[in-house]
Order: sequence, then C-alpha cells, then structure tokens
Amino acid sequence: MKTVIRGGTIVTAADVVHADLLIADGKIEMIGENLVRFADEEIDASGKIVIPGGIDPHTHLDMPTRSTQTSDDFETGTIAAAAGGTTTIIDFAMQEKGQSLFDVLDIWHKKAEGKAVIDYSFHMMIGDLSGPVMDEIVKLPEAGVTSLKVFLAYKHTLQVDDQTLFQSLLQSGKSGTLVAVHCENGDVIDTLVNKALSDGRTDPLFHAITRPPDAEGEATQRAIALASIAGVPIYIVHVSCKEALEQVIRARTDGKPVYAETCVHYLVLDESAYSKPGFEGAKYVCSPPLRAKHHQEHLWSGLKNGFLQTLASDHCPFCYKEQKELGKGNFSLIPNGVPGIEDRMTVFYTAGVRSGKISVNQFVDITSTRSAKIFGLYPKKGTIAAGADADLVIWDPEKEKTVSAQHQHQRVDYNLFEGMKVKGVPAQVLSRGKTIIKENEFVGSAGWGKFVPRAVHTRFHG
Ligand SMILES: [Zn+2]
Repeated sequence: MKTVIRGGTIVTAADVVHADLLIADGKIEMIGENLVRFADEEIDASGKIVIPGGIDPHTHLDMPTRSTQTSDDFETGTIAAAAGGTTTIIDFAMQEKGQSLFDVLDIWHKKAEGKAVIDYSFHMMIGDLSGPVMDEIVKLPEAGVTSLKVFLAYKHTLQVDDQTLFQSLLQSGKSGTLVAVHCENGDVIDTLVNKALSDGRTDPLFHAITRPPDAEGEATQRAIALASIAGVPIYIVHVSCKEALEQVIRARTDGKPVYAETCVHYLVLDESAYSKPGFEGAKYVCSPPLRAKHHQEHLWSGLKNGFLQTLASDHCPFCYKEQKELGKGNFSLIPNGVPGIEDRMTVFYTAGVRSGKISVNQFVDITSTRSAKIFGLYPKKGTIAAGADADLVIWDPEKEKTVSAQHQHQRVDYNLFEGMKVKGVPAQVLSRGKTIIKENEFVGSAGWGKFVPRAVHTRFHG
C-alpha cells in the first residue's frame, strides 16, 4: 500500500519545500508535486509542516537504580516519545559491576522487544571497566552498538578515574566507537555533599549547591583533553552551564571533533525550582542540576551557533510520591532524573522557533538530523529523502496546548513543564509509514518498534 502526505511544507535541516511525499513499504519513495495519483491512501497536511521524526539521543527506560527503578518502561516511555513527535530513541543499556557487555545487551533487548512502539537503539553505559570489558568494547559495533557512556561523577558507584577514561578512549579508537561522557567532578561533589549533610543541610536545594558549574566545567575540560591526547572524538552529554559550554566552544574552534548535547530542561527551567515549598524541589533533581537563569542564554547561543549539536530529554522519570520521596531528609538520596521524553520537541519548538531564537531548519537539525549523523543512524533516520525510513511528524505550528501531567502519556505523577503554554504540536506521527499518533491519541501497537543497529561514527558528520 502506498500513502501520500499531500499539501504540506516539508522541512529538513537544510530545506523548506512545499511538496507531496509518497510512502511505500515504510520508506519514503518520492518527493514531488501531485503525487496523489500514485497513492492508495492520502493524509492531508495542508497548513502544516512535515518534519523527520525526532531522535532522542538520551533516555533511561526501565532502568534500575540503587533504590528504585525509572517509572516508564519501553511501552509507556515510547508511547510518550511518539506523542511528542519522537520516532527513535537511543536508550542507555546499563552495565553493573561484573557484567559482560553482551549480557547487558541481551537484557536490554528483552526489555524493549514486544514493548517499544517506535524504533530504538542502545548506547552502552559502563559501570565497570575491569576484566574482559576493555576487550568487549572493541566488539560492540558488531552488535550495532557504536557508543559508550562513562562517568566522571557518582563517586563510589559509576565514576571512573582518569586512567580508566583514557584507556576506554584508546579502546574506542580501535573500533570507531564514540565515547559519551558525563562530565562533573565526582570527587569534588562527594566532598561538598558530605559537608552539606554534616552541616544538617538536607533540602533539595543542596543538590544544586553541591554540584557547582565549575565542577562541570573542569570535568568537561579534562574529558576533552584526554580525548584529544587519545586522538578520538568525544560526545559530552547534557551540557548545562556556561563553564562547560566554554570548553566545548574552545575545542570546536580549534577544530577538535567534540560533540555536545544539552537538554530541554536546562533551556527553560532554572535553579529557583529547588526552592519550591515543602519537598516539591525534588521533582527537579537531576544531574547536572538546573542552573542559575543566566546560563540559559549561553546554551541558546551555543545551539544557534552550532557549538551544541543535539537536544536530549535525558528522560529518567521517577514519581514524586514514593520515589522522589526516598530523599526526604537527605537530598543525596533523591533519585536523580527528570521526565521530558514527551515534551522535548514541543517545549523546544515554542521556546526556540516561536521566540525567534532558532530557525525551523535548526529545530529539525537539533532534534533529529544531528543525532542521526553523530550516532550512525543517518540517512535511514533523521531526514526526509527518498529511501529513508518514513518516520515523519505532521506538525501543526498553530495548535496550542497547555502542558500538564493530566494529559500526558509518560508514566509519572507530575510534569516538569506543568502549566507551560506551547504553540506547535504534532498532529500526526508516523513510524516507518504507519500512523501511531493522531491528535495526541496513541493508535500504534506495542512491539512495532525495532532495534536499529548503528554504524560507527564518522568525522564527516560534525
Ligand atoms: Zn542520563
């Protein structure tokens, strides 16, 4: 069966064209004028824009933590993603101490299979680099996993020392794997956290105070320097502040293959959220924390000028009741992470395109194309071109809604952007040619989503 999307304005990272789009066998077959005659079914997109489905390069679905578990699994989490215009996620498969990376991959495949409603891929999140793991890193691309994540934060659990980071960078260079790094200085933070707690400072606000921007800036500089010595590219996850961004700008200006991501919450929320009454501030606890408001303009400028390439949700949802509440009386026990998979694109469109901070082409580039290129999904995903998967969003730029936990699909008892008015939302979302969201209603099926093996990173895609 062939479907035509008729009368819309097709927007890619590079172009804005008024044309029809013909879909056959889940792929885009043709772009042109008057394609209705070839189709069995038509979708009217007049007055709307047609964009490549979003790619969220950073999610944590069905992930255990030391005290609990993220509240969305691959079904609820991907339905929420789709409702917000995202048609591919790259989730973090998490290795715990002593586990083989390939055993971890099996576990994550089982979590997603039969549940995901959109396509997905995995980064390998490293918890333990001892034993045979260093050798396994080199073999990961054979399993379609071409990126790793290591941590310079989370002392006593995930944090690696500089030697281990450096060795993993050298190993990744052998196979073309891209190393993503969580850049915060875990030793400094651990010391500040212990001091705050011993001074009786237990409120959520101290989560932010004990993770200062300089701790992120320092770790970012160090990670970039080690990658530079190893002669490999590096990807900095969730840049939240000016201090870290400055390091990225300096490296990219020097021509280094340094890629960086920010998250939608750092663009529109700030640290004042931690001072909300009662324990409400816990809802906003994530790492790095929300920053002082002035950092936002730096991040917007970084996106506009191409120093930051990708926008993630870092969706890592925990319910306020019973989960975030685990940290009552001790901020360091609040599960770290916030929900955002559903609102990433709509909030970014309103705050970025509507306000004139970025162009609609940049919106597509930052929410989809650049992640596809950096992480080896391009051109199957991330653009609108003949032969690409028909992962498409018919986006209604005029439709308004108020973001609210009441109407969300993600399985969590609050919304980070509660009450925000957005203009520009998905009207219809297609995954490989099949409509899965229509007017905010899920009409797809669990298990439709497939694992997408990724190619190794190429430096041409900077
Ligand atoms: Zn994360």
